[in-house]
Amino acid sequence: MNKTTNIPELFGSMVFNDEQMRQRLDEKTYTALQQCLVQGISLDRALATQIAAVMKDWAIEKGATHYTHWFQPMTGFTAEKHDSFIAPAGKGKIIMELSGKELSRGEADASSFPSGGLRATFEARGYTAWDPTSYAFVKDKTLYIPTIFCSYSGDTLDKKTPLLRSMRLLDRECIRILRLFGNTEATHVIPQVGPEQEYFLIDKEAYRRREDLKFCGRTLFGAKPPKGQELDDHYYGAIKPRVAAFMHELDHELWKVGVLAKTEHNEAAPAQHEIAPIYTDANTACDHNQLTMELLKRVADRHGLVCLLHEKPFDGVNGSGKHNNWSLATNTGENLLKPGQTPSQNAQFLLFLAAFIKGVDEYQEMLRCCVSYPGNDHRLGGYEAPPAIVSIFLGAELTAILESIIAGRDYVDISKRKLEIGVDTLPEIPQDTTDRNRTSPLAFTGNKFEFRMLGSSQSIASPNVVFNTIMAEELGRFADRLERSENFREELAALLHETFKAHQRIIFDGNGYGEAWIEEAKRRGLANLRDTVDCMPAYIDPKNVELFTKHGILTKAEMHARYEIHLENYCKVTTIESNTLLDMVQREILPAVLRYSDELAGTILRKRKTTVASCVAEEKLLAHISALSDRLYELCAQMKVHLAGAPAVDGGIEAARYYRDKVFACQSDMRRVVSELESCTSAAHWPYPTYADILFSV
Ligand code: ADP
Ligand code: MG
Repeated sequence: MNKTTNIPELFGSMVFNDEQMRQRLDEKTYTALQQCLVQGISLDRALATQIAAVMKDWAIEKGATHYTHWFQPMTGFTAEKHDSFIAPAGKGKIIMELSGKELSRGEADASSFPSGGLRATFEARGYTAWDPTSYAFVKDKTLYIPTIFCSYSGDTLDKKTPLLRSMRLLDRECIRILRLFGNTEATHVIPQVGPEQEYFLIDKEAYRRREDLKFCGRTLFGAKPPKGQELDDHYYGAIKPRVAAFMHELDHELWKVGVLAKTEHNEAAPAQHEIAPIYTDANTACDHNQLTMELLKRVADRHGLVCLLHEKPFDGVNGSGKHNNWSLATNTGENLLKPGQTPSQNAQFLLFLAAFIKGVDEYQEMLRCCVSYPGNDHRLGGYEAPPAIVSIFLGAELTAILESIIAGRDYVDISKRKLEIGVDTLPEIPQDTTDRNRTSPLAFTGNKFEFRMLGSSQSIASPNVVFNTIMAEELGRFADRLERSENFREELAALLHETFKAHQRIIFDGNGYGEAWIEEAKRRGLANLRDTVDCMPAYIDPKNVELFTKHGILTKAEMHARYEIHLENYCKVTTIESNTLLDMVQREILPAVLRYSDELAGTILRKRKTTVASCVAEEKLLAHISALSDRLYELCAQMKVHLAGAPAVDGGIEAARYYRDKVFACQSDMRRVVSELESCTSAAHWPYPTYADILFSV
């Protein structure tokens, strides 16, 4: 990479994008493909064959020798299976080939991916199908073809299929609303998403020496470092040369595959950073975030670094989240979440706002559930992350407007200019809501909603499926009512008044981290689901099942499967962590601590032989360390009993509760004792890098 790199030329150079298709496909094929995309219909084989041939030639020019169907199974990561382009051409020769069938459909062994019982054992096959709405690209000499993944009988086994379905549904319902407001131009509404990705960057050497980081992605113990983030000197601080070199290369890699990487900065905690792209349609944003996570790790490796995407790698230090910025745009370029200039535009804005508020209030458990994950359990409800309670922050002005609509009185703005709220007039809404509340899980930030509950390692697909679906549901209900009404304006005013009044409880502008909010939320009847085990039943709650099945986003069986998969994953993660901790304690920590105790005991003995020297410090320290190591030994024994008596990991909610209440609880007890031991054992004996070593390693 040299300084003269032409960024506009570099950007998207490895993407088979619209420009490439337009240039390389004949006009008829290009138009037919566009029609399929716009109408959301699948391609016929003849069309696929033509596109495949052209795509393959382009990929070979870019150095590709292989192709892969790239998909996003329920693990939350991406999966790929590489095939080369070669095909025998007789007489020991080969040609490079990609058939229409190979482009549009692939076989994948579904039995290797979580299916939650959807895939009967006798039918292990699954298939992947090309999603032409996300561009193919070349990376590592391979043509990546974005696909969806389902079982042979058609059950959804991935994160992308429901996302695509929910986008189509939302498109339809938004257009109904726009027509009611006299908009005849827009033909599509597409959710726009910009995910801000947080991560930690540490030295590879420190990482290599911690089994917990290697096997679990997070530390399972660690005393608080003498210096953490209390000086606020890391956030937006000067980027160190090694990190800067990493970020520079990362940007280049992302730009090549068409990711609009835009912002890179340091985050609050030492060694923590953030990368944000420019927002794009939800489907592309989802693929690009997966690519970003993968490239973060890959590029870090080349710089002797390790990128940690875990939600809480270090206890007592800020965790990492992913802020999902979400809005709705028409194909004519209008942002439907942007307050307008005229009363009519504002009425439309307020209707979309009402649908969002109602949807979030009615389906708050579902929204909370879709971001619950063992890693994120350590973060939500902590001191820096949003609370586990879902609420919406609107800012002072918008809240005042809503209150005036609810009370049916005039809205007086800050400049004391009176605005009438009657049947025909709605208030002018200030454009700039700069008021920010960092403690809110879901904040309106002027023209979009920023959802901050999502964990840094999670796919952004699920929360966007929920936002799209609840929004479509509520807009659909509103459209039903407004389409029937004889007086649109009156009906609209009544609808806004009723909706804001009925769902006011979900709006909260105060301090989301405070104890007082937990009490207040309880009084308001808001859910406070603390962990994955408490959250998962939302997947099988009849209300949520009804919502998703009614709109054809997921079937009842698919929702049950997701419930099973996540519970099983919880049990597995807890087991791996507990075994890792046991191993580290028994093989390294206890032996080291006992050696140190032995050294202290020796000193005490030697000193006692001489009459003059006192050995109070040694004796007290030895007593303290001995008590802690006894306790730790006892906890190890308890942990073994818990693990030996544990139910099978696929034992559903009862099993998950056991893993939480017995195994995880014991792990937390062990963690406290080990961290305390670390702070009073001599550094010369302690076998692992400390938080200070790791966090300040770069
Ligand atoms: P912050 O102060 O939270 O860092 P930014 O303005 O930098 O906010 O935006 C954060 C993310 O939100 C970026 O990815 C940006 O592209 C995205 N974003 C901005 N406007 C919109 C929008 N209308 N819809 C969706 N995402 C958006
Ligand atoms: Mg943000």
